[in-house]
Amino acid sequence: MCAVWTGTGPSLTAMTSPDMTSPDDRTDPDGRTDPDGQQPALAALSEEITTCRACPRLVTWREQVARDRRAAYSDQEYWGRPVPGFGDPRARVMIVGLAPAAHGANRTGRVFTGDRSGDWLFAALHRTGFANQATSVAADDGLELSDAYVTAAVRCAPPDNRPSTDERDRCLPYLARELDLLPWRVVIALGGFAWDAVLRHTGWSPRKPRFSHGAEVALPEGGVLLGSYHVSQQNTFTGRLTEEMLDAVFLAAAERVG
Ligand code: SF4
Repeated sequence: MCAVWTGTGPSLTAMTSPDMTSPDDRTDPDGRTDPDGQQPALAALSEEITTCRACPRLVTWREQVARDRRAAYSDQEYWGRPVPGFGDPRARVMIVGLAPAAHGANRTGRVFTGDRSGDWLFAALHRTGFANQATSVAADDGLELSDAYVTAAVRCAPPDNRPSTDERDRCLPYLARELDLLPWRVVIALGGFAWDAVLRHTGWSPRKPRFSHGAEVALPEGGVLLGSYHVSQQNTFTGRLTEEMLDAVFLAAAERVG
């Protein structure tokens, strides 16, 4: 697997280093990757992500939010840094969101943790057998994922949940490196932003398939990309995304990986 990437930002060196292999190369006799081989690399990548300061606007915003805090969380220390992915290092299903929420993951330090979007996401993962519990309130709440890994296209909370094009492109190599480290067979994009980011990583050309809820695309490097409306309150409060619709996407992913 190899991304087509010409932007500036986090290094892609690791994507082409000798220890970076294709999903097929990484699988053990059970058809899944060796966690002892991948966990240190994932941990090192997560450490690298959490110290990134490549986007001045987002660094200023994430740290300002962490200083000012929301009244309900005034007694908590905010994470205020980039948020790495979270989940099973042997995951065959990757779930990609947009970016951390200012008072969610930017507060708790774990992706989709501590906000309404995460409530929806992890409840659905629990209903469909990918999570050991339905709630996700703090990084030490005991949540464990099985065969699933949750991450985001951009790792710093952006103002109004809108990263710029430059910020998106600068951060994409982190997602690319996670994709290279995990033995995924299915990627679920939560929303059009994540859909586009995954297709960019694959070097899709010339015309990208359109995002829609339930869309499915066979990726050139193997595996499939599934589309789901994002679990934002804008979608869940209005009924645009229902529990049944979200469960159907996760169940389709489970079916694809057997
Ligand atoms: S958005 Fe990504 S590239 Fe930009 S500062 Fe955050 S982690 Fe670094």
